Amino acid sequence: MKIEIALESGFCYGVKSAVTKTIEIAKKEKNVYTYGQLIHNAQALEYLNSFGVNTTDNIEDAIGGTLIIRSHGVKKDIYDKVKLLDINLIDATCPFVKKIHKIVYKYYKDGYQVFIVGNKNHPEVIGINGWCENTAIIVDDNSIINANNSQKSIVVAQTTITLELFNKAVEKIANNVKNLIIHNTICSATTKRQNSANELSKRVDFMIVIGGKNSSNTKKLYQICKKNCNNSLHIEIADEIMVTNIKKYDKIGITAGASTPDWVINQVIDKIENEGEGTNSGK
Ligand code: SF4
Repeated sequence: MKIEIALESGFCYGVKSAVTKTIEIAKKEKNVYTYGQLIHNAQALEYLNSFGVNTTDNIEDAIGGTLIIRSHGVKKDIYDKVKLLDINLIDATCPFVKKIHKIVYKYYKDGYQVFIVGNKNHPEVIGINGWCENTAIIVDDNSIINANNSQKSIVVAQTTITLELFNKAVEKIANNVKNLIIHNTICSATTKRQNSANELSKRVDFMIVIGGKNSSNTKKLYQICKKNCNNSLHIEIADEIMVTNIKKYDKIGITAGASTPDWVINQVIDKIENEGEGTNSGK
């Protein structure tokens, strides 16, 4: 049995930097809150909690303390509200997401209709929409575009979507509007993880995708792997694997979402290499 880890997997730049920043602050300050879950990974959140980091959806909880904006970013009005309160704001928004906020804000002020390709319920998309006063048209796989043909428009992408979805959506939008400026804002970390998972899952007998069950980039990695390798499994932690079911395969591939810590990946590898059997279902 051989285990191979995808060339690009696990913590991306934005998440790594948000987690590092948060731990540094929590070591120095009391009353540290993240605005929403810092990352979509239960194990990493537990770890942060051990440093006294709290999660809140109410910025007023952080009055007199520190509020950390997560890598997904937030709407403009959150910054405006925090300015009026006694809150030490630490902005851990990923620079790639920050760039989308700037693009959307600039074009919105210039009278453009903003389109965002992505999941309307994802915090990143909700945040981006907040930089054009929530006027964006959010486009996903099933959207029917009904836009004003003559209005100048711009399209951006949620950073974690696939290029395939973005291209399809752009084509649909372009057929409905006259002047469309296209900003492909898919993050290269996502693309690299998707390409690596795609390449590896074609060559292995069993593919394990590690990451939060509510992490959109992990779910996309799983979809890609499942297409190439029917024996693909999405897990959050090592306990979800039944090693005896996996050890019968010759080549096992592993990839992990951008919010999956290294130590969770290592626990999975350790379990497969060193244990005879596990506790739960293997497929
Ligand atoms: S996936 Fe990309 S955009 Fe999202 S946090 Fe990571 S580096 Fe930033």
